[in-house]
Amino acid sequence: MSKQNPVIPLFDLNYGREEEEAVSRVLRSKWLTMGPETEALEYEFAEYFKVKHAIAVSSCTTALHLANLAVGVKQETEVICPSLTFVATSNSVIYAGGTPVFADVVSLDDWTISPDEIEEKINKNTRAIIIMHYGGFACKMDEIIEIAQRYKIPVIEDAAHAPGSFYKDRLLGAIGNISCFSFFSNKNISTGEGGIICTNNDDYANYIKKIRSHGMTSATLDRHLGHAYSYDVTDLGYNYRIDEIHAALARCQLKKLETGNERRRLAAICYKDALSKIDGIKIPFGNYCFLANYHIFPILLGKNIDRHSLMVFLREKGIQTSIHYPPVHVFSYYRENYKITMLPITEEIGMREVTLPMFPTITDGQICFISEKIMEFFQK
Ligand SMILES: *Cc1c(COP(=O)(O)O)cnc(C)c1O
Repeated sequence: MSKQNPVIPLFDLNYGREEEEAVSRVLRSKWLTMGPETEALEYEFAEYFKVKHAIAVSSCTTALHLANLAVGVKQETEVICPSLTFVATSNSVIYAGGTPVFADVVSLDDWTISPDEIEEKINKNTRAIIIMHYGGFACKMDEIIEIAQRYKIPVIEDAAHAPGSFYKDRLLGAIGNISCFSFFSNKNISTGEGGIICTNNDDYANYIKKIRSHGMTSATLDRHLGHAYSYDVTDLGYNYRIDEIHAALARCQLKKLETGNERRRLAAICYKDALSKIDGIKIPFGNYCFLANYHIFPILLGKNIDRHSLMVFLREKGIQTSIHYPPVHVFSYYRENYKITMLPITEEIGMREVTLPMFPTITDGQICFISEKIMEFFQK
């Protein structure tokens, strides 16, 4: 029976002729990395997000590494960050030599980092605060920015989930001191690999532009100084460049962002209508009052529901699900190398969360099918 059902993936790409054309355009141009497509992407991204600088890089992970370095994270500094996130958020602190200090989320309804927890964990070594807009829902930005300004600590937005989501009338990723977006396959702007950093700070931007490419002084500057045949290396840099194919794909995907997010919002309404009838399921961010991009569709199962059985049951019906996230602070690497922390709300969500399929081409029919199967599981 299950073989006849179409497989509904957790995520599916919204690709078409535009993307094929963009890749062909790059191939025909014979310029493969950091060229006109990258420049155009950076320009278009900065325009869209109304930020002064957008700097494209190879991934959000490398973007986060550069952001940590730019704000001065190094040995003997601490960075406060969530644990209910992808491991790259806190890994990036460690790459820069700093120590991640985990803070719990607000509640079983609001899964973003708690401002009270942030303030409690600030000390003289705190060099930055990384926040993550879980599922494309904004963190408590007014409170967080107020605390950050009072203690004079920069805020890095991990905006991997966030493109096109709002806090009040402001786009996420344009509120903190520096922000990092991902173009990984399953994000709202998908290119396979890639990322971009946004900031209004000229010093951060100049430093990041240099160290994304080996810390070399730029060709433009060389020409300006009249020694274009050589260059200097002024910092320890990396090869964190984006290539032209990914930049061209990102430009296509940025154009589709709003319509894709609109479809996701309608899909979320459809899910909520169907699932709100089920006792054993709670949908987080019930009181969210800004425009969200529904990067993922997470649900919280009742305490006594066997998550594994539900996921297996859905898989047998051809429905792919996932968990966002197994908390970072309980991973072996973190437990063995860092101070043990207790984050009761994060841990509880980590045990009871399931992520249902969500993507810009999902149909109401697919959502009905998924909801019916979930209902079937709960009736058993
Ligand atoms: C996907 C993701 C990243 C990493 O992005 P890459 O582009 O794959 O490096 C970082 N943080 C969060 C919250 C993510 O979801």
